[in-house]
Amino acid sequence: MDSSVILHLLKLNVYFFVIRTDNHIYLDYAATTPLDPRVAEVMMTQWKGNYGNASSVHAFGRKAKVVLEESRETIARSIGAETAEVFFTSGGTEADNHALVGAAFAQRRDAGKDHLIVSAIEHHAVLDCVEYLSTLGFRVSYLPVDERGRVQPEVLRELITPHTALVSVMHANNETGAIQPIEEISVITKEHGIIFHCDAVQTVGKIPVNVVELGVDLLSVSAHKIYGPKGIGAIFIRKGTPIDALLHGGAQERKNRAGTENVPLIAGFAKAMELAVEERTEIYDRVALLKGALRTKLLNSVPGVVVNGDEQNALPHILNVSLDSSVYDNNGESLLLNMDLHGIAVSSGSACTSGSVQPSHVLMAMGRDERSTRSAIRFSFGKYTTMEEVERAGNTYISLVQSIHHHQTVHH
Ligand code: PLP
Repeated sequence: MDSSVILHLLKLNVYFFVIRTDNHIYLDYAATTPLDPRVAEVMMTQWKGNYGNASSVHAFGRKAKVVLEESRETIARSIGAETAEVFFTSGGTEADNHALVGAAFAQRRDAGKDHLIVSAIEHHAVLDCVEYLSTLGFRVSYLPVDERGRVQPEVLRELITPHTALVSVMHANNETGAIQPIEEISVITKEHGIIFHCDAVQTVGKIPVNVVELGVDLLSVSAHKIYGPKGIGAIFIRKGTPIDALLHGGAQERKNRAGTENVPLIAGFAKAMELAVEERTEIYDRVALLKGALRTKLLNSVPGVVVNGDEQNALPHILNVSLDSSVYDNNGESLLLNMDLHGIAVSSGSACTSGSVQPSHVLMAMGRDERSTRSAIRFSFGKYTTMEEVERAGNTYISLVQSIHHHQTVHH
């Protein structure tokens, strides 16, 4: 079957075959990670033996409450927060929404401030949220990035007005891995008394994340990027930060997040965080080696390949490459699809929105042209990735690009 036909069917969510991944290579750790068996074990113990509601006063409730609070302490310690500053959410998306909507509403009501500044390369959990807030009368400014995908703190100064309520800049970008100058930004937000939110979903457990050193007021984290379960995360709210709740109901999470806490997932999150911190430097060195090897291989074998991101300030496990559009008549969709057909799971730099593939807003913000942006491929590695897998993935990419190129040379 023609690959464009398959792509069309995939877009329509028509699955006509049993999907098998036995011999596939997973290089999409920035999207999500496999569950660490030690985390699974902790969760299974909770599911089987600790079903009480953590808000109940009886022994069953208290037993759940102990695990809940111990887990909170683990998460808090790992990011340098106080235990009372950590609130569990359903994941990074909810933490981002809580930070933005909660702070925006509180600031407008209590201080008359209605201006928000977010970086142009934020995750859609932030971008779509401020777009929603703009329909409710908030004004939004976008902080640009340079060609390496980093925001420049000095530009932030120019965007700040007396009405600025909140600044949101992610710790590292999920597409390019570019680490942002959070400490420098927090110096500026503090000077102006502006609330500062940071999405640390891609960095927590991978590089040091300390809310005091970063100087942030709000921080989002998620479990499933660090070998924990999906559907659980947390928001750090610095003591005294004015913020409304997103969910209203019970008094859970000190009235910051109503709803019965999911203790098994929370215990799994804490275990995953504990392991991530323990194994951080070891994993860092391993994945950095894998990334370096693939980077060198592709740069040596693929003419016109471009590495997207900041070499100096980069996460060690994300390699984003695209093809120079003056060398290739790019077809990013078919490249990604063909990688999958060859058993290599990677990500495109594009987001699939309502059936059509949009070029990545991150690469576009870095000044890349639309055609080369469409060819972007993100390889991301993790603790279970082997050098052999990386080599196979590299070889597949190289031969696919060569066949596209050959195709074009013949046609033109
Ligand atoms: N923010 C960033 C930077 C991410 O990479 C992700 C992951 O997809 C999210 C937020 C959303 O987190 P979650 O999947 O836990 O909702």
